[in-house]
Amino acid sequence: MPLCYKVGVRREFSAGGVVVRNLRGRPVVAAIRPAGKPEGTWALPKGLIGPGERAEVTALREVCEETGVEATPVEKLGDIRYVYTWDGERIFKVVSFFLFRYRAGRLGDIPPEHVHEVAETRWLPLEEAPRLLAYKGEREMAAKALERISR
Ligand code: ATP
Repeated sequence: MPLCYKVGVRREFSAGGVVVRNLRGRPVVAAIRPAGKPEGTWALPKGLIGPGERAEVTALREVCEETGVEATPVEKLGDIRYVYTWDGERIFKVVSFFLFRYRAGRLGDIPPEHVHEVAETRWLPLEEAPRLLAYKGEREMAAKALERISR
């Protein structure tokens, strides 16, 4: 008998931003500590792509919702992939990341309906982000952003 339950592997597609600006002469990146994560768990803002939505538009919206800053697109950095388990189910996830330039707003000025998603926000020095970010794929995106802005 075929194991039909295996057909419906769950996949998720998200998009996020590496938002860069210069502060006191050095590049910094907008990072968040997602709600429920221990101190020092720095991540990049991201979220699920809505039906029919362009990944870049999702990333801009999620950056605004999770950090309070508005950004301008520069270019796509790449896709990262990981698997996590939720309620005993394995979820295969792809997240597209974009390099954004900071445009306006104050980091941490999160809209009230999204404050529960984020425990903390911080501008991390971009040179240190490949070490400070919690997840390998996001560290690689930060390293790519550093390489691109140093070109
Ligand atoms: P989204 O921000 O896309 O709406 P979410 O907040 O629902 O997503 P994730 O951030 O994907 O969910 O987190 C689900 C699980 O995967 C958590 O346990 C988290 O620690 C882990 N996780 C998040 N990002 C990564 C990553 N880049 N690599 C590996 N594991 C990750």
